[in-house]
Amino acid sequence: MKKFVSASLAAVLCVGTATASFAAVTEEDLLNDASTTGDVLTNGMGRDLQRYSPMDTLNKDNVQNLVPAWAFSFGGEKQRGQETQPLIHDGIMYVTGSYSRLYAIDVETGKEIWQYDARLPEGILPCCDVINRGGAIYGDNIYFGTLDARIVALDLKTGDVKWNKKIANYKEGYSYTAAPLIVDGLVVTGNSGGEFGIVGEVQARDAETGDLVWTRPVIEGHMGTLNGEESTMTGTLNATWPGDMWKTGGGATWLGGSYDADTDTLIFGTGNPAPWNSHLRDAGTPKEGNTGDNLYAASRLGIDPATGEIKWHFQTTPREGWDFDGVNEVVAYTDRDGNKRYGTADRNGFFYVLNREDGAFVSAAPFVSDISWAEGIDENGRPIYNEENRPGNPLEAEKGEMVFSVPSFLGGKNWMPMAFSQRTGNFYVPSNEWGMDIWNEPIAYKKGAAYLGAGFTIKPIFEDHIGSLKAIDPDTGEIKWNFKNDAPLWGGVMTTAGGLVFFGTPEGEFIALDDETGEKLWSFQTGSGIVGQPVTWEQNGEQYVSVVSGWGGAVPLWGGEVAKKVNYLNQGGTVWTFKLPKQLASAN
Ligand code: CA
Ligand code: CA
Repeated sequence: MKKFVSASLAAVLCVGTATASFAAVTEEDLLNDASTTGDVLTNGMGRDLQRYSPMDTLNKDNVQNLVPAWAFSFGGEKQRGQETQPLIHDGIMYVTGSYSRLYAIDVETGKEIWQYDARLPEGILPCCDVINRGGAIYGDNIYFGTLDARIVALDLKTGDVKWNKKIANYKEGYSYTAAPLIVDGLVVTGNSGGEFGIVGEVQARDAETGDLVWTRPVIEGHMGTLNGEESTMTGTLNATWPGDMWKTGGGATWLGGSYDADTDTLIFGTGNPAPWNSHLRDAGTPKEGNTGDNLYAASRLGIDPATGEIKWHFQTTPREGWDFDGVNEVVAYTDRDGNKRYGTADRNGFFYVLNREDGAFVSAAPFVSDISWAEGIDENGRPIYNEENRPGNPLEAEKGEMVFSVPSFLGGKNWMPMAFSQRTGNFYVPSNEWGMDIWNEPIAYKKGAAYLGAGFTIKPIFEDHIGSLKAIDPDTGEIKWNFKNDAPLWGGVMTTAGGLVFFGTPEGEFIALDDETGEKLWSFQTGSGIVGQPVTWEQNGEQYVSVVSGWGGAVPLWGGEVAKKVNYLNQGGTVWTFKLPKQLASAN
């Protein structure tokens, strides 16, 4: 695999967009996706998830000439929570919609080519809206997950079903919303359902047949599989979990993963340990020496794509008790001194830099204000807890002591993907400044029922904003600038070699900022809230930009006092596609 890297650099220089038309998408195409500007084959615009385009046709001087090319409605009555990222291949856009729908659209005209609607059963249990975050292209197929915890392969040309496989049982609370990840002919998926006492798992399937190749549960004590047989146990039974709590230990791998080709490593994040009430997961029973960390919940895992074995782990929040899922995307990048690093902005409010060879901790810095649960991160990467900010231990059938914690359980950053700029060396992190009243309650596991043992109310902490897009220098942890937004930010960010930072707001604006100053250079009102992920590509010598508009997601459902503040926002479901017309590309 490593030998393709130099070939890909050469390809950047000579591949024009007009020639970028392949019969079938190969591993090499996926490997080079970030640098081939005529297509967008992967979620994250490259499997390292940098979301950086090397194109500078569209730039700070001409972005005011960016105009709508077409808009496409997802139709129906199911207009909500459009968190998806479009893919572009061979002149066709493939984009998923809410309620597990997928559309193929002609990129020049905006006309629909085909549409696939998954038939969802009654009784699905999506925790955080009926969303989907995108598909993956490989061979002649497009792959996407459905809310009933299935993964589907469709023919790129026709939308016909090639295969349809069950990831897990939706009746137990499992669902699937992330974009799948394709590596070496394997379709790699996680799972959702961390609020139902499920067990997080990563699965790899043969892309042609859909047959399982390996599974890797992420909570200690559970057994992995390889080629239909047991492989190895995850972690060491009862090393960090008491009693049988690991059996329903959570750790949902709900945001999918990234792939670092340099080290041939899949990196998946894991959600909160279940239940939320951390006192039920305390150390000491039955085994002496139990640390109570609850591995590998609230962690990042490096996984061997060939076998599903865990190569390394880094736990952001040991003994987690605030719903600080550790799922946030891990972005491979090279720092200004040439060191190969991972950047990841955790739900717990800290931005971490890790070593790419072994996942070892390098540094951490807060990226939101007034973090209350920890004073900081020590030299080993462990939180320095403020014990008085841990929600109290509930006594028999009573409510434990309530605390006000920052960030809120929806996180300093939630699912919405950040971007890295190779131009500035900075990360652009969509964050939210908010806190919560939180308290613990007694809870027992019941299949298919919420498994929290906690109550909560989210509240703003500033009068003038919740959303805050921050430019962060990963070498120093310094926040270079901060773009404030009234409503919480819930969509993805994209950077370009033209010096632009694209993102959208729940208020409906699609915005381009100056990557060095944070100054707003361009914006367009899309008519519904943006929680989608922007992309850019080149078509017939013109630069295109697309984003899906359609408000929804977890904030209106779980946002407490914040949900009331944003309940005036309209739902929707529209792909907005813009372009810089050739004749305006050089104009100021
Ligand atoms: Ca590409
Ligand atoms: Ca969670």
